[in-house]
Amino acid sequence: MRADLIICGLGPAGRAVAHRGLAAGRKVTVIDPRPERVWTPTYAAWADELPGWIDRGAVAATVDGPSAWGTREHRVERVYQVFDTAGLQASLTLEGATVVADRVVEVDARAGVVRTAGGQTWTGRVVDARGLTRSPRRAEQTAYGVILARDEVEPTFFMDWRADNGADPDQTPSFLYVVPLGGDTVLFEETCLAGRPALTPDVLRHRLEHRLSARGIPISGTEPVERVRFPVEGGKPGRGRFGAAGGLTHPATGYSVAAALAAADTVVAGDTVWTPQARAVAALRRAGLRALLDFPPRDVGVFFDAFFRLPAPLQRSYLSGHDDLRGTLAAMRALFAELPPDLRRGLVTAVLGVNR
Ligand SMILES: Cc1cc2nc3c(=O)[nH]c(=O)nc-3n(C[C@H](O)[C@H](O)[C@H](O)COP(=O)(O)OP(=O)(O)OC[C@H]3O[C@@H](n4cnc5c(N)ncnc54)[C@H](O)[C@@H]3O)c2cc1C
Repeated sequence: MRADLIICGLGPAGRAVAHRGLAAGRKVTVIDPRPERVWTPTYAAWADELPGWIDRGAVAATVDGPSAWGTREHRVERVYQVFDTAGLQASLTLEGATVVADRVVEVDARAGVVRTAGGQTWTGRVVDARGLTRSPRRAEQTAYGVILARDEVEPTFFMDWRADNGADPDQTPSFLYVVPLGGDTVLFEETCLAGRPALTPDVLRHRLEHRLSARGIPISGTEPVERVRFPVEGGKPGRGRFGAAGGLTHPATGYSVAAALAAADTVVAGDTVWTPQARAVAALRRAGLRALLDFPPRDVGVFFDAFFRLPAPLQRSYLSGHDDLRGTLAAMRALFAELPPDLRRGLVTAVLGVNR
């Protein structure tokens, strides 16, 4: 059986390419064991990362200038958007696609052949968006969150590293993420940005409860819960791979959804997402992850003070500039200059991969 695009995996990356492929008039086949699975994670992104074709109705909440705390408060001069995740999924319509509920067992992207467990063989251009599997070798992001109904307007914290979560200052750190979900509900999530191994849900739950209690925010224990665990490294560019599988996850933030949405048209056109600049940026980001994993836990607030003091365009380059090599380098240089001298040496060692 033949299609112009054979898309393996219907997560955000695969579905975005399928949707845009159909919009461009391509014959599209999508293969996923559970194509009807409704997405439930709370997806969010910076508004300036999203392509113009995104259905604005899929955005549940918009925050202009969220806060970030290191050891003091900073306003992030960007607009942050939280999706109605099921709405985002529904807006990426698949009308006209051949939907195959099956598991892909073999992909030969060079030859353009995909085989499924059920015995189907498809030929055409392959987009392998099957995500990443967990492994002890891969750093992961973990989080534990509760969804609370709130009458009062909560400040949005993109990151809040204040030390009121009961953790020992020398233990792996975690931060509080607070975002509106639309209506009168707010997500409060204690997050381990990256760890190898990452903090467990139990540790994060205790820290969250400690923090909310310290802030006088009551919880009953019956609130809806969000659990997060996914690898932030391990994706590899090339051979038709896309999304997390194709290396689009930012290893120092865990974000990939906006990058996949933004790159979908490039993939449909048959162009590469992995320009030499993008590959160099990816190498710098991996160095950033090494720095993060090695950073002394008690100084993490100082590190993020330095990051959020950077001008917004530099923050943007580092967080969202998939192929912005010049901006990423400028951001890293400026961050280095902002750090106290005693933290710089450890950073250089980690970034260069010494001791590894
Ligand atoms: C609770 C939570 C909150 C998150 N919040 C954010 C956020 O705010 N912003 C952000 O950018 N990221 C966020 N993430 C991370 C985000 O979920 C992932 O980066 C993203 O899902 C990766 O998308 P993907 O399509 O590449 O892969 P996946 O979402 O992993 O999708 C892979 C798809 O492939 C299918 N598949 C697997 N194996 C096969 C096979 N053999 N054959 C066929 N199909 C197969 C799976 O069924 C799945 O549908 C969050 C994650 C969690 C868990």
